[in-house]
Amino acid sequence: MNVYFHTFGCKANQYDTDLVRQAFSDGGATVVDDPSHADLAVINSCTVTHESEVKLRRFVRHVAKSGTAQTIVMGCAAALDDGTIAALPAVRAVVPNADPIMVLRAAGFPSVVGAQHAAPLLRAGRSRALLKIQDGCDEHCTFCATTIARGNNRSRSVAELVREARELAEHHAEIVLTGVHIGTYGQEANQGVLTPGTLGTLLEALITAVPSVRFRLSSVEATEVDDTLARLLIEAPRSVAAHLHAPLQSGSNRILKRMGRHWYTADTYRARIEWLAMRLPVFGLGADVIAGFPGETEADHHASLTLLHALPFTYLHVFPFSVRPDAPAAKLPGQVPPDIIRERARELRDLGESKAAAYRATRAGQAADGVVSGRQGGRVEVLTQDYLSVYVRSEAWSGRPRFEVVID
Ligand code: SF4
Repeated sequence: MNVYFHTFGCKANQYDTDLVRQAFSDGGATVVDDPSHADLAVINSCTVTHESEVKLRRFVRHVAKSGTAQTIVMGCAAALDDGTIAALPAVRAVVPNADPIMVLRAAGFPSVVGAQHAAPLLRAGRSRALLKIQDGCDEHCTFCATTIARGNNRSRSVAELVREARELAEHHAEIVLTGVHIGTYGQEANQGVLTPGTLGTLLEALITAVPSVRFRLSSVEATEVDDTLARLLIEAPRSVAAHLHAPLQSGSNRILKRMGRHWYTADTYRARIEWLAMRLPVFGLGADVIAGFPGETEADHHASLTLLHALPFTYLHVFPFSVRPDAPAAKLPGQVPPDIIRERARELRDLGESKAAAYRATRAGQAADGVVSGRQGGRVEVLTQDYLSVYVRSEAWSGRPRFEVVID
């Protein structure tokens, strides 16, 4: 059976797709990179924005038109499907999670023995690997349907993660720690769960076990960067990339409260980032920001702009607020008109672009610790510790997955 895979959404989704892809390969399927050559397409869905679901539906229709493949839709949007996805053309099954066994069963595989084994995921031809350390989230942000789709926080054991990291390190120069809410690693609200530690203690164990690799945190709340994590970021620059993607969402405390983000305020976020920035000679810093959350006034929007101006962000991911029917924010009063949302998003994006350009200019001509992240058109893409992309001509590349680059 020829199987085509496509992923929407975050690194946790990419990891889940890799796991399912591996289960199909182990089961004898051939992975193809063109849906028109496939008997089956497996699409891992995302529910983070309205737009991501529109793109999903468009893509499922595209696959149906491009060949004879049947489609299985898995993941977050599949978990919340009200029948809309199931009714799309050529959809064979909607699997409400990312369990490889369930996807294999939905594909009609006769035997699924061993598919639940969390084997290391070797990403062919890539120098960067993903290591999913937990799934789910115990918080209830009012804009987020992901937590409903993925369930409560569930952390994997340190021993299992160390084992997987060791095997990944044989083929990859960088390992990205990923999950849905990684700052709560080991902090399960369910007291019956054996708590495996904290993100800081996990990272320390991984660095000790696999000193040759550079680890990177995928997305972590600023106030969940505890003292152990901060120390590792500062003292172990070869082992931990000097990069944080710390979701802010809003710089207004009033809006943070309406979002249900009770664990930080604009001030505590700012204090943690400033403390780190003072101690890190280079620091890639990104954030997610939502424009036009229900109830957001001009003053709230300006509070976000002011905080974003003040902190040393090197890029921003801006999301115009979109109603997720399953998330409580859909019912909040004070929905902001679409043209105002668009305008605020544009202002935030402009700010993000100018901060990115300014940071890049300060780094131009400096040496950086680079790991190859891709190859195309005769060029090798290299990712620096502070999350800048540098391109090197293939002829000038030594072939090593990790090397010093000069930022242009
Ligand atoms: S912290 Fe909030 S936004 Fe992030 S996964 Fe949990 S509920 Fe969703």
